[in-house]
Amino acid sequence: MEADVLERMNRGIILRTGAYLTNDHFVISSGRHAREYVEKRLVTTEPGFTEGLGDIIADRFADSPVDVVLTSGIGATILGHCVAKAHPSRPKLLYAVKGEGKEGRTEVVLPREFFRFIYRGCSTLIVEDIVTTGSTIRALIRLVEERGGHVVGVGSLWNRNRAIRFQQPFFALVTKDFPTYVREECPLCKKGIPLNTEVGVMVGASPRRSRPPRRASS
Ligand SMILES: [Zn+2]
Repeated sequence: MEADVLERMNRGIILRTGAYLTNDHFVISSGRHAREYVEKRLVTTEPGFTEGLGDIIADRFADSPVDVVLTSGIGATILGHCVAKAHPSRPKLLYAVKGEGKEGRTEVVLPREFFRFIYRGCSTLIVEDIVTTGSTIRALIRLVEERGGHVVGVGSLWNRNRAIRFQQPFFALVTKDFPTYVREECPLCKKGIPLNTEVGVMVGASPRRSRPPRRASS
């Protein structure tokens, strides 16, 4: 895709959904602090817009026969529905359920009702909304391969980590990462800029109310 089209997509997400927030002070899911934030729940709030995004991802993989579009998570599944609907192979849409496995590794479980749709030789396209570490995508790839299927590619809306690589072709509509800081080194904290408590992992938290200490393992 041309860089200017990507830029328009980027602007579109910012303007249309309000999912991309900047010039503020957030705690992101890793616990690190950042000036920018992508609120994934807001990305798929406009169906017509989500369908347009699904069209672009489907088009990128239109030359590959796809039997199944596989997702995990609500936002990714909304987007995955749009990709599956737009893909010329008329694939099924399936979703796996996320959980935490051994040593905190992301694991995904395929509901048993879907077992028969991922079979030996089955061509699968994985769709994710926001890619941060790639751990969910790797878990989905393992799930498909353990069932004898193969993954033809990975499509996503927003890749927050330029360094991520998969063995399969990986396409993101927007690739934009931003610096994050441990609290002790956060320049925003040093300037005394208050944390945004309405989005990010501080959602619903009152900065004045003390919270029970988190277990080190959580
Ligand atoms: Zn900070």
